[in-house]
Amino acid sequence: MTRSPDHPIPLDVLAIAAHRDDVEQTCGGTLLKMAEHGHRTGILDLTQGEMGTRGTAQDRAREAADAARILKVSWRQALDLPDGRVENTWENRLKLARILRAQRPRVVILPYWKGRHPDHYTTSILGYEACFLAGLSKLDIESALPASHSERSEEPASEGHDFRRAKKTSSKEGALAPEGNLPPHRPFKLVYASLYHDVRPTFVVEITAQFEARLQSIYAYKSQFTDQEAGRNDFPAHDDIRDRVAAMARFYGMLAGVKYAEPFVQKEVGLVDDLTAIPVKSI
Ligand SMILES: [Zn+2]
Repeated sequence: MTRSPDHPIPLDVLAIAAHRDDVEQTCGGTLLKMAEHGHRTGILDLTQGEMGTRGTAQDRAREAADAARILKVSWRQALDLPDGRVENTWENRLKLARILRAQRPRVVILPYWKGRHPDHYTTSILGYEACFLAGLSKLDIESALPASHSERSEEPASEGHDFRRAKKTSSKEGALAPEGNLPPHRPFKLVYASLYHDVRPTFVVEITAQFEARLQSIYAYKSQFTDQEAGRNDFPAHDDIRDRVAAMARFYGMLAGVKYAEPFVQKEVGLVDDLTAIPVKSI
């Protein structure tokens, strides 16, 4: 059953990241908190993980669906950008813009624009530019995309926790949503999940109540985080993960006087209406 392209249910919050498990590691608690507050949330992973030292893209698709259930996201899809080679091209911007028009998020969470991994910081700029493009009323994405991408191969998403997953037969699928030429949409708010980079956040979101579930969403990537010989020097041991995740969440929590939190940067200034309602104690 296909969803009517005329009535897509907009997402309240969409997190965009380069790799499956980036969202879980940087803003998974926030997404879960938003879902628990009744918001409709989604995750768009740009790659499928075929270059990973551990596991296959198929393993990661399964694990990503498990993690999405734990985080109560309504929608998840992985695009087909090459793992390790996320590039800010016109075609990739169009692919993202098409998803943005279909899912119509009010808030988009992007990775912070600096970092060690080129896929992460490239995703930040690519995501920003796609958000801009998606709002251009004269841009006809279907005509602008090369012919090879005009055919929609993806299973349609349905309501609730029905994630779009990679198909098992090829590495080229999963690229495009089945929606038609949708009207322009520009997200209202862009925020940057900054946990991967040592930068002072503009704000943090408390995730004390979501911390355990968020940890479980990371453990859902069994192919990555189960102790094994492959990549032993690059991956933390299973028992270290809790310590690492807790230490980071605790650090950002302490900055705001709560137990656990996730850090974000926003480019805009904050707007205050009532000085007596500003949270976080000064002295
Ligand atoms: Zn990553």
